[in-house]
Amino acid sequence: MKLLEEKIRSEGRISEGGVLKVDSFLNHQLDVEFLNEMGKEFKRLFSDVEITKILTIEASGIAIASIAAQYFGNVPVVFAKKTESKNLDADTYDSDVFSFTKGKTYKIKVSKRYMNKGDKVLILDDFLANGFATLGMIDIVKKAEAEVAGVGIVIEKSFQSGGNILRELGVNLHSLARIEFDEKNQIIFNEND
Ligand code: 5GP
Repeated sequence: MKLLEEKIRSEGRISEGGVLKVDSFLNHQLDVEFLNEMGKEFKRLFSDVEITKILTIEASGIAIASIAAQYFGNVPVVFAKKTESKNLDADTYDSDVFSFTKGKTYKIKVSKRYMNKGDKVLILDDFLANGFATLGMIDIVKKAEAEVAGVGIVIEKSFQSGGNILRELGVNLHSLARIEFDEKNQIIFNEND
């Protein structure tokens, strides 16, 4: 998505350990108009699949998932929870996820009430690195006997293994931008959808 590449070029900041910061529009401050453009693009990319629910993970996936849902007929958005909370039902589907940015493993949970057998689920997230977050969500969808209709990622870091793992698994994966860094730590954009 050309607009996203321009946005990353002008606002993205590379920090240590191969982490791209896009907190001016996606991860901290939100550019709602721009999120709408990305939501429309996800609809274009997944226009041929039936979606009954969008699944993401708190916190950074929630904004793009909610905006995108409007272009998929306002399907419900469920976000996997990372923290224990009295607000969460006791009966949950769980999966373990290793966090790239925090360097530790945590549990993600979705109430059984909100992920149902037969749901056709579009998984959306902000970043794809090694694929742990996405694989955790896929695990939850499968535990619920629902179907993964597709995975949509805003920024795929194509030098990390997640994209290849998911494509080899046959997942219908679309990323709005695919990036890597050159030897001078500048961003290079790879072919994307
Ligand atoms: P994965 O589970 O694919 O290894 O990593 C994806 C998760 O880690 C995303 O949900 C995102 O929160 C975080 N993440 C991974 N790489 C980056 C990065 O370069 N920048 C930011 N902002 N988050 C990242």
